[in-house]
Amino acid sequence: MRLPDLSSSLISSIVNFLYPAACPSCSNPTDNLTFAPFCSACWGGMKHYAGPSCSICGIPLVSTCADRCRSCLKNPPVFSRASSFGLYDATLASVVHHYKFLGIRRLAKPLADLLMFYDTAGIDALISVPLSPRGLKDRGFNQALLLAAALSREKRLPLVIDVLRKVADTPPQVGLSAKERAANVKKAFVCTGKVSGMNILLIDDVMTTGATVNACAQQLLRSGARSINVLTLARASLL
Ligand SMILES: [Zn+2]
Ligand SMILES: [Zn+2]
Repeated sequence: MRLPDLSSSLISSIVNFLYPAACPSCSNPTDNLTFAPFCSACWGGMKHYAGPSCSICGIPLVSTCADRCRSCLKNPPVFSRASSFGLYDATLASVVHHYKFLGIRRLAKPLADLLMFYDTAGIDALISVPLSPRGLKDRGFNQALLLAAALSREKRLPLVIDVLRKVADTPPQVGLSAKERAANVKKAFVCTGKVSGMNILLIDDVMTTGATVNACAQQLLRSGARSINVLTLARASLL
C-alpha cells in the first residue's frame, strides 16, 4: 500500500533521525534532516556556476571571447535563455539522482532554494516540464513539478499546471545524439491551455542539449506565449 506524501515524508524524517545515514557524497554521517541523506557540508559545497556560458542555451564555454555556442549560432532554440544552478557533476548529480530516481521528494524544497538566485522580474508564471501518463505512473511523482511548486511558493509566482502535457512516451534521451534527442521529443508535447501573452519560466531538473525544453517552448509559443525562459537545477553535457 502506498502511504500518503505527508506520512512517508514524516516517517522518512524519523528514520533518518533515529538511524542517521551516511552522506552519499562524502560518507560522513548525515548531520541534518533538511538535506538528508546529504550532509550540510556537501550540500553547502554546491555552488552556482558563474563561469563563461552561452548567452542563449547556457552551456559552459571555454572562454569569454564568444557570446554564443556553435549550436545556438547555427540553429538557435526558440526559448529566450536557459539558466542552471550548476553543472551536472559531483554532489549535484548525486543529489538529483537521489531526488529523482530514489524518490526522496522532500529534497524538492531545498533544491528549489538553490534556484532562488534566478531573477524572476518580468516572469508571469512558472510551468514545469511534464511527464507522460506512463512516466508519471512509473516514477510516482513529477520531479520538475514538485520543484516548480516549491519555487512558485518561494517566489510568489503562479504555477500553471495541466496546460502543457506530454502525450507520447519517448525512449530515454540517454545515449542519443543531439539530433536524435530533438527527433525523439519533436511531437511529444502539446499545449492545450491559455498562455497568451505570458512570459513563462519553464522548470526542469536537468538540461542536456535542450531538446526537451525547446520542444515544450515551441508548443507554448504556438499557443500564444510571449516568451519562454528556462531554469534547471543542473546542466549536463553529452560528453
Ligand atoms: Zn557529505
Ligand atoms: Zn548555446
